[in-house]
Amino acid sequence: MTETSLTNRIDLRSDTVTLPSPGMRMAMAEAPVGDDQYGEDPSINRLQERIAEMLGKEAALFMPSGTMANQTGLKLLTRPGDDVIVGDEAHVVWHESGAAAANSGVQFTVVGRGGLFTADEFRAAYKAPGHAIFPPTTLVTVENTHNRGGGVVFPQADAIAICAAARQLGVSSYLDGARLFNAAAATGRPLAELAAPFDLVSVALSKGLGCPAGSLIVGGSADIKRAVRVRRMFGGAMRQAGILAAAGLHALDHNLTRLPEDHANARVFADRLLGVSGVRLDIQTVQTNIVVFQLEDDAPDASRVVERAKERGVLVAAFGARTVRVATHLNVGRGQCERAAEILAAAIERG
Ligand SMILES: *Cc1c(COP(=O)(O)O)cnc(C)c1O
Repeated sequence: MTETSLTNRIDLRSDTVTLPSPGMRMAMAEAPVGDDQYGEDPSINRLQERIAEMLGKEAALFMPSGTMANQTGLKLLTRPGDDVIVGDEAHVVWHESGAAAANSGVQFTVVGRGGLFTADEFRAAYKAPGHAIFPPTTLVTVENTHNRGGGVVFPQADAIAICAAARQLGVSSYLDGARLFNAAAATGRPLAELAAPFDLVSVALSKGLGCPAGSLIVGGSADIKRAVRVRRMFGGAMRQAGILAAAGLHALDHNLTRLPEDHANARVFADRLLGVSGVRLDIQTVQTNIVVFQLEDDAPDASRVVERAKERGVLVAAFGARTVRVATHLNVGRGQCERAAEILAAAIERG
């Protein structure tokens, strides 16, 4: 691909494709740093303190990726052979290369629909410890917002009820909050309120906040202390990583309040696609910066739509044979989204 077509293309494959802004690069260049494994990186320490406070938890730990944050959570809260209850199409099940089985030796029981589930569904799937045959359920995980579910916000009343039921049963709770900032922006609920029911929570800097890398795992100080060792075991302990933390601090100051723009731009897409024959889209799922839609049998399949849109400079992701995902982010403006929606609609309507 030529450089011109690279710069002209509108990339909506993911909110991870964002590039650090000049201001963010400046903050990174000027970041005070030290050896984080001695606890001496001031930028990492500031970010960890700030995120812990925002989420209303005792402590936070910087991680190279959201996958490692999730894997650390699973490792901390389960033992090999345990059962983990999770909503369908969860990131930990689909997008982490089988890591949960390889790293923690756990199995998943998938419940609910569209990534959402209720406390009743959790209780029905729960397996008690001490049974001669069933694997013990020791963890329940929730994803908010839910990626493959189309960026839907997990209803807070359900999160509260699930975690209360879990606590009663002696089951730990984990929130995959890679897009928790989007959930907060969409609902107007403070991050701390969304995080409150859960023992451990992850958040990502490299999604809607536009950082080049980084996630954090957040929770009680005893768990986070143990997480330091697990991160080292997984090879994710770094040194002068404050350069990355500085990007996160910059993003909290500059990119957090603009997330509603991404949500409005996703609506632009959804509204245009609703009028396209062959598209099946539940508008109720379009709550944040993601649009996931299905292609009916009489429409071209996902790989064909992706290919055609790409020929006209618009990149979207095939999430299944007949499933497409569009993710808006800070590097695409309203005008580009309107143009991209037209191109995508044409790619589908050509049959
Ligand atoms: C992106 C994402 C992650 C983490 O992914 P990394 O690419 O490893 O940073 C975790 N959970 C969800 C729901 C995600 O969308």
